[in-house]
Amino acid sequence: MATAKELLSQAKSAVREVQGVDVEPRLGEVVLLDVREADEYEQGAIPGAVHLPRGFLEFQVEGRIPDKSAHVVVYCAAGVRSAFAAKTMTDLGYEDAVSLAGGFNRWKDEGRPWKTPQALTPDQRNRYQRHLLVSEVGAEGQLKLLGSKVLLLGAGGLGSPAALYLAAAGVGTIGIIDMDVVDASNLQRQILHSMDRIGERKVDSAKKTIVALNPDVDVVTYDVRLGADNILDIFDGPSGEGWDVIVDGTDNFPTRYLVNDASLLKRIPVVHGSIFRFEGQVTVFDPYVGPCYRCLIPEPPPAELAPSCAEAGVLGVLPGIVGSIQAVEAIKLLLGIGDPLTGRLLAYDALEESFRTFKVRRDPHCPACGEDAAPIVIREYDELCLPHAIAPAKQS
Ligand SMILES: [Zn+2]
Repeated sequence: MATAKELLSQAKSAVREVQGVDVEPRLGEVVLLDVREADEYEQGAIPGAVHLPRGFLEFQVEGRIPDKSAHVVVYCAAGVRSAFAAKTMTDLGYEDAVSLAGGFNRWKDEGRPWKTPQALTPDQRNRYQRHLLVSEVGAEGQLKLLGSKVLLLGAGGLGSPAALYLAAAGVGTIGIIDMDVVDASNLQRQILHSMDRIGERKVDSAKKTIVALNPDVDVVTYDVRLGADNILDIFDGPSGEGWDVIVDGTDNFPTRYLVNDASLLKRIPVVHGSIFRFEGQVTVFDPYVGPCYRCLIPEPPPAELAPSCAEAGVLGVLPGIVGSIQAVEAIKLLLGIGDPLTGRLLAYDALEESFRTFKVRRDPHCPACGEDAAPIVIREYDELCLPHAIAPAKQS
């Protein structure tokens, strides 16, 4: 039976120790892994460090640091737990896991950079407990969500489930644009609203529901029609820095083209959803990374072939499914996890109960995002949605 001292000397002989003086110039290049307990971490940590207490290491490290060839500097308070942790990581197949000699305490004593990390309150730790258990989210991801801003276009069928799930997930700022009032005929699918809100502005009703669900969420409402005159200001958001993600639940072609062109200008990814009778579609338009809406649908179909859901009807549950998928995609984009639906169109058929995905490619000749596209000009579109924005039509 080995003593603790012997185990430590075995671990130390199996892993390389590095000095703070060598690590500091490489901050931002190396992956720092803090294996101390939450209360130690909250007192101060090296900026940018991944925090994963030693007890969770084996179970969660592969989710948190997927690249096994990364240069990982593990640290604890004094360099003991980190030696064991680096040894474990080496056993797990990490090629270059090293331990910081003297740990965080020496790092701090030597006057190297550190900061007090943002931390979740005890209430938040409880509320988001199931997120904290998922290594791809964790406390760090939850803080990211709380600092994120998502704009919802519409508080209707798609916007309702998206808003509810994004709010429940703790997305800190949710913007909602809608110029309608709640009508009894909305309640078959628009689950943000209720009987007692009939006649109320939809944005006000949406705000009440969200605030009641999660007081962490700051709701910004726009009780206006989204148009060429206001879209760029609205896309800049309340802080002027722009929304992180836009969730598009609009149901008409002119607005979708307008949203597309403005999102390209502002370089904000759009999670697009649409519904029709028993069928729904979701995709992600990530400006200049994947295709845009004009790559997918260069021109709108003739009006008689494109009835809106007001004319054609829609199964009430359908937007619940499509809007929820939009919320999933928004959260993935915010956290930078998984494979977003960029360049892929997900089609759902409720009668068949089937999901299919189709590849969607960027059109090199797209008049909006193509290589030779003229600068985008935001204009109001008519029902043909001709891209005046790109090649202004001559006025007669
Ligand atoms: Zn395009």
